[in-house]
Amino acid sequence: MIVKYIFAFILGAIFGSFLNMLIYRVSHDISLTIPRSFCPNCKRTLKWYENIPILSFLFLKGKCKVCGFKIPKYYFFNEVFLSLLSIFIMFKSPNFLDFTVAFLFFTFLHYMAVLDYFYMETDIRPAYFGSLLILLYKFLYFNDFSILFDVSLIVFLLYYLKEGYFIIRGKDGLGEADITVSAYITSFFGLSNYIYILLLASILSVLVFIYYIFIKKKNLQKLPFVPFLYKSSLIAYVFVKGL
Ligand SMILES: [Zn+2]
Repeated sequence: MIVKYIFAFILGAIFGSFLNMLIYRVSHDISLTIPRSFCPNCKRTLKWYENIPILSFLFLKGKCKVCGFKIPKYYFFNEVFLSLLSIFIMFKSPNFLDFTVAFLFFTFLHYMAVLDYFYMETDIRPAYFGSLLILLYKFLYFNDFSILFDVSLIVFLLYYLKEGYFIIRGKDGLGEADITVSAYITSFFGLSNYIYILLLASILSVLVFIYYIFIKKKNLQKLPFVPFLYKSSLIAYVFVKGL
């Protein structure tokens, strides 16, 4: 019993560490095929013991041991967060296959949300791949073909919303990435749950927007929306019964 939770914890930490590497390389246009991890500041290759998720950050006190470069705290946060999330997904999943699908779903979403949060644009390739995986899983194991209708309807509705907003306001309110990620979330949660997720994400983003404009007095033009969809999906996952 405890073994599967230890497994989930370690898997989450490894994926968290992998995502950190991926986020850094994708945002800096660095090849993903250079095999070894390196310090972003002094560029030296890291030793194996500097690559252990969570532990290395603690041992090294968040610094490169040669040049003293401060490793961003979100590296550590990503690893710890995905470990804890992974344990929770294991707790919620009736079997290992369910765990795998839900774990990959949230890992991909986490990656897209972090990129959107930092750079206001994201890499949506995992959404295509992930949707395909989830749809296949639902076809094969639940004979659920209605999910294809759900996803198509969301894409259709959001595109009209985007076009409508553009005609009225003369600028984009909803990005392509938001629509793709919405379709991805719908493939996992289904149409009715997605409506709640979208509503919650919209309310949260409006609250944060108001906070920045009126309390922080910042002239905010736009907020990345994928992080809000992600947070709302996490909240929804606590309440739904699983896939
Ligand atoms: Zn260094």
